[in-house]
Amino acid sequence: MAPVVEAQDLGYVYMPGTPLEQRALQGVSFAIEAGECVGLIGPTGCGKSTLISHLNGLLRPTEGRLTVLGRDVGNTRDLRSLRFEVGLVFQSPEAQLFEETVFAEIAYGPRNMRLPAADIEGRVVRAAALLGLDLDALRQRSPLTLSGGEQRRVAMASILSMEPTVLIFDEPTAGLDPEGRALCLAAIQDLIRNGRTLVVVSHDLELIAALASRVLVLEGGRLAWNGDLRAALRAGLPGLRPTPAGRLCQALSAAGWAVPGDVVTVPEASEAIIAALREQPVTDL
Ligand code: ADP
Repeated sequence: MAPVVEAQDLGYVYMPGTPLEQRALQGVSFAIEAGECVGLIGPTGCGKSTLISHLNGLLRPTEGRLTVLGRDVGNTRDLRSLRFEVGLVFQSPEAQLFEETVFAEIAYGPRNMRLPAADIEGRVVRAAALLGLDLDALRQRSPLTLSGGEQRRVAMASILSMEPTVLIFDEPTAGLDPEGRALCLAAIQDLIRNGRTLVVVSHDLELIAALASRVLVLEGGRLAWNGDLRAALRAGLPGLRPTPAGRLCQALSAAGWAVPGDVVTVPEASEAIIAALREQPVTDL
C-alpha cells in the first residue's frame, strides 16, 4: 500500500522574490504509513507549522513534491476534499469556537460537507464519545460556558466529526490542567487504537513518547532525524533537550548510578532509579 504521506525534497519559501523572502523548509523527505502516529519536533522556528500546513493544502510546496492520500498537494485542484480528509487541529483550537451550542459547533464540519441530517447527528455523537464528552448534558450548552479542557475537546470533536483519515495535532495538551491533559491524551490514544494516521507536534517529549512510534526532528527547515525518539536523544541533536526526568537520570548516571541516559518519562525514570537502588545498597551511595 502506498504511504499516506510522502514528501520528496519538499521545500518552502515564504514570499519568494521579495525583500521579506524567508526559507522555511529545504530538502525534506519522509513517508508516513497508514495507522502510524508520528511525532514532529524541533525548536521554535524550525518549520513545524509550515510543514503541517502543507499536509492539508493550506500551503503548497514551492520545491519538491508532497503526496497526501494519493493527491499531489502542489497541483491538486481538489483542496476542499483534502481538507475534509486531513484534519488539522491548531494550537489552542478553543480560541476559534464560535457556534452558539456544543452540538452546532461539532456539527459545523459535517454540515459544511453537506451531509444528510441523520449522518450529521451520527458523526457528532461519535466524535463527542471519542473525546469523552457527555453530549446529552452538553448538547445545548454554549461552548463558552465550559471548562478550558472541555472547550479543547469540543474544538477537537469539531474536526473529528469530519471523520478525517489523517489527523494533525499541534501542541494538543498545551495549557491544559493535569486532568484535561490526561483526557486529551487518552482520546488521542483511542484514535491511534482506531487505526487513524496521526501527526503530533509538541515540545513536550513526554507526550510524544506516550503517543508516537517514531519522530521527525526538524532543525532550521531541514529534516535532522527520522526514527526512534530515544535514539535521537542519544545522538544529542542540538535542537532536542531531554525532559526533566531525562536530565535527572543523566545527572544520576554522571554521578555513577547505573541508570540509562536516554530516559524520557517519569515512570521510566522511577523504574530505572528503583532498579539501580536494588543493585546498589543505599549504604554504598
Ligand atoms: P515552527 O512551527 O517550528 O515554530 P514555522 O514553520 O512557524 O516554525 O517557521 C519556520 C520559519 O518560517 C521561521 O523562520 C519563521 O520565521 C518563518 N515564517 C513562518 N511563517 C511565516 C510567514 N507567514 N511569513 C514569513 N515567514 C514565516
